[in-house]
Amino acid sequence: MSTFIRGATVLAMGGASGSTPFTGDLLVEGDRIAAIGPNLPVPDGATIIEGAGKLVMPGLINAHLHSGEALFKGRYDNLPLELWMLYSYPILGAKALAERMIYLRSMVVAIESLKTGVTCLTDDIFEAPRQSLAQLGAAVQAYDDAGIRATVSGHVMDKDFLDSIPFSREHVPADLQAEVAKLGVPTTAEYIDFAKEAYAAFHGRSGRIRFMVAPSAPQRCTPELMQAANELALEWKVPFHTHIVETKVQGVTGPAIYGKTLMRYMDDLGLMHSGTTIAHSIWVTSDDIALMGEAGVSIVHNTISNQKLGAGVAPVRQLLDAGVNVALGSDGICSNDTPRMFDVMHACGLIHKVTTPDYKQWVSAAEVLHACTLAGAKSALIGHEAGSLEAGKKADLLIINLNTVSFTPRNDILNHLVYCENGSSIEKVMVNGEIVVENGKLTKIDEEALLAELQAAMPGFNEYHSGVERTNKAFEPSFDAIHRRCNQIDIGVHRLIGNSDMWPSTPSGNF
Ligand SMILES: [Zn+2]
Repeated sequence: MSTFIRGATVLAMGGASGSTPFTGDLLVEGDRIAAIGPNLPVPDGATIIEGAGKLVMPGLINAHLHSGEALFKGRYDNLPLELWMLYSYPILGAKALAERMIYLRSMVVAIESLKTGVTCLTDDIFEAPRQSLAQLGAAVQAYDDAGIRATVSGHVMDKDFLDSIPFSREHVPADLQAEVAKLGVPTTAEYIDFAKEAYAAFHGRSGRIRFMVAPSAPQRCTPELMQAANELALEWKVPFHTHIVETKVQGVTGPAIYGKTLMRYMDDLGLMHSGTTIAHSIWVTSDDIALMGEAGVSIVHNTISNQKLGAGVAPVRQLLDAGVNVALGSDGICSNDTPRMFDVMHACGLIHKVTTPDYKQWVSAAEVLHACTLAGAKSALIGHEAGSLEAGKKADLLIINLNTVSFTPRNDILNHLVYCENGSSIEKVMVNGEIVVENGKLTKIDEEALLAELQAAMPGFNEYHSGVERTNKAFEPSFDAIHRRCNQIDIGVHRLIGNSDMWPSTPSGNF
């Protein structure tokens, strides 16, 4: 079974042509690209797709998202991370979600991702109070059914949550601290057993599903758990996926809790290497950046989420210059609030231009596209399989109509992809050699029925979740105080645009 795309504009994002579009053909055999280039011979019996007026490019890669937030899409606004988490990742009162709801929740993410050109995603899945194998299986089933390529976790925390927040013992009322202390945390052995079961059950399914370990963050996990998870990541050649210095509060956390930056702390534990993927990396020092470059880690730049939560702007140019692999992510589906990577690319292309007048430092459209394709694949440790159109790689690609208004009049294709297109010009999406989106519809599932089923289940879910929100609102005054206090501390790093990224009209703080 082979498919031959004839005479298209091809943007390979790899191989000899790199990010220079050319006119040529592409042959898919089975799940892989068999050949790519100008004037290829047409094999007998191949299904031919005429490429005139079309662009063929690699599918976009979302290197960091949390499908667990999808039920809260569009629910919150104007909350910084630490306060927003009280409602989206409630500390108290959350009950295990039914597997069918997890299936539908994941399916909403898969549908929107595929329809907007995302062929591969990394889903760091958090379940409250603790993820079960069956719950992870429900998410895997959704991605398998929809036809997307996915790496799933395995998200875990094994510390009292309040111990991950600086100054919480001073600000959070004693009765609430006692409630939190009653919550159990998994042991390292329990998480490792879970990871082994999940790896055995799901890794490699359908040639598209992979498992990864994902200790939440160095301030939320014990060194024992992180190092044990890292051993598995190295053994299985899967990512060690985590979160570091997303917010100013987290920038303060390393010095406040460990007496060093969180990157230095990670490095001292032996956790910084080419299989490490770090979400955010905003409040990093210049020493951190050098260390990250030497270690060869990946970071995921969550451009839109970081704006929505007021987290700041990651120093992408400095990270790239240091040799860090920079991928792009949507982050969670209620801090963005969509997994559309064309939106993320657009925001990424723009925001760095207002961080410095030195326009030679600005991030280019070619760099944005690289981050959203090959760098994303590299962060998932599948750079040899995905992220570019090259013979031998998996056939994960988009066929885009160039006769739409987004590409008319047409100038530089890369600029159009980052600054003009929003995914609406996509005609076909292929994953693993299979057409999974055709004329705006998913081919493998009944998306209307699935969306209707989820919509019908939401009143009951929202009633439950509103109660959880009321319970966790009790933390808001103390978390507000912690947010203000941390934003009065000068850690020598400034990541908010403008000249007032310390809390206004307050004396400069200290630890
Ligand atoms: Zn995240």
